[in-house]
Amino acid sequence: VVTVRGLHKHFKQHEVLKGIDLDVFQNQVVCVLGPSGSGKSTLLRCLNGLEEFDGGTVSVLGHQVGKSHAELQAVRRKTGMVFQSFNVFPHLSVIDNITLAPRKVKKTPTAAASERARELLGQVKLEGRESAYPSQLSGGQQQRVAIARALAMDPKLMLFDEPTSALDPETIGEVLSVMRDLATAGMTMIIVTHEIGFAREVADRVVFMDDGVVIETGTPTEVLGEPKMERTKMFLNKVL
Ligand code: ATP
Ligand code: MG
Repeated sequence: VVTVRGLHKHFKQHEVLKGIDLDVFQNQVVCVLGPSGSGKSTLLRCLNGLEEFDGGTVSVLGHQVGKSHAELQAVRRKTGMVFQSFNVFPHLSVIDNITLAPRKVKKTPTAAASERARELLGQVKLEGRESAYPSQLSGGQQQRVAIARALAMDPKLMLFDEPTSALDPETIGEVLSVMRDLATAGMTMIIVTHEIGFAREVADRVVFMDDGVVIETGTPTEVLGEPKMERTKMFLNKVL
């Protein structure tokens, strides 16, 4: 589903991605871990063209990212992204947040879009909250609206960039639980996270990055349980 080869990216003089290779297959959950500044967000943003890159190839869902605008549009239509700061639209109700893209981009009739939105609200455990505004919801609830909004476009791939980092400890579990359900349902996901326990439990593969390179990749047992590389060990010692 995702093939990245030799991905390079720099901001001015600073080389942020130094030749990243990454493979993600259908129905896989891949968790990306690594210290702050290692390039995790930049990698994710290169996958759906939020960031341009300087070298290498990125193929997502059969489309070559960085080739043409049409290819990029195709990738974006099939990929959902959830950010650390729950970027829901504050001036729109929950239901309008979720139905906006299907109505505008896919021209889904309002009734059908609303019905699907209510289904999705059930899936993220927010049934009955369609007329609430984001300001009336907790961070965890807003993040679940953001997930429902991404799912409304029927993505084939979901990208998560530290979806729980900005949340209160009590609400982190609600969001992780929704993501766990998605994984169980077979959604292909790439998740940047510091939640080691979640990665251990849900990930098929773990990728550990540091300073713009993939240091180590493997199953959670391999990378989190018996890391081979000194840098991985050091990182895990700090966060565990
Ligand atoms: P964090 O865990 O803090 O989110 P990260 O692994 O996601 O870190 P990135 O956000 O990808 O790291 O950033 C990698 C490096 O690129 C950092 O040194 C950052 O300062 C730099 N960087 C990111 N975006 C920009 C930008 N738009 N302009 C210049 N430098 C940037
Ligand atoms: Mg980041």
